[in-house]
Amino acid sequence: MLQANGLRKSFGDLEVLRSIDLTVRKGEVVVLIGPSGSGKTTVLRSLNGLETPDGGRLELLGGPALDFTGKVSKSERFALRNRSAMVFQQHNLFPHRTVLQNVIEGPVQVQKVPKAQAVAEAEALLERVGLLEKRDVYPFQLSGGQQQRVGIVRALALKPSLLLFDEPTSALDPELVGDVLTVIKELADEGWTMVVVTHELSFARAAADEVLFMDGGVIVERSDPRQMFTNPRHERTRQFLDRIL
Ligand code: ATP
Repeated sequence: MLQANGLRKSFGDLEVLRSIDLTVRKGEVVVLIGPSGSGKTTVLRSLNGLETPDGGRLELLGGPALDFTGKVSKSERFALRNRSAMVFQQHNLFPHRTVLQNVIEGPVQVQKVPKAQAVAEAEALLERVGLLEKRDVYPFQLSGGQQQRVGIVRALALKPSLLLFDEPTSALDPELVGDVLTVIKELADEGWTMVVVTHELSFARAAADEVLFMDGGVIVERSDPRQMFTNPRHERTRQFLDRIL
């Protein structure tokens, strides 16, 4: 389970997060929606230690409870990093490494998994997303959707407790979106715990246990997808949904 309380973050004078409270239970899928600049990416980056909040508290799946009002040590941040894996909008694969090399990099270099074991696990994961035959090609030889599926496999290979997706399909051509969302939905059905930033409301409807609407650095509204999309309580949510539906 993930528990965040009162997370705050500013960049200079810009207050990007103003007291974010978030609970994600094991096996839950939480979808984060909201206008551009509302702070969604900063929430994800804070959850996985890429960003250090200025205040608040964060506890992740049995790891240390980090209190950002005090000083957070490097090793605590590292412990946080190790519990989650992030899939970015752009796949971020290493261009000069093959698909397989990209997938085993984290397990072998960071987690010190023996190479033969990392390769076997990577191959099994590539097979399940239908990309085993691409194991020796380079990212540029793949379609955008295939690259993004490799990005997902690379995150899974780290065996994180929490998967974070930051608009995983927004850089893809429309016809490639479905394949990637199908993989994410399958992972949700398998019980992976995840926080997903996305504008794909059909995915949110099908997969989310809870949807959070963020605006101006606060969570304005949270509810199950049916309530959120058919009967939002707040005017700001309504206006946002009217624009993207
Ligand atoms: P989008 O949907 O466009 O990705 P978002 O809701 O994910 O937006 P964030 O990326 O979290 O929003 O950004 C929130 C605000 O913080 C934006 O105004 C952004 O310009 C600003 N911001 C984010 N990271 C930094 C940074 N490292 N330095 C300065 N400002 C930043």
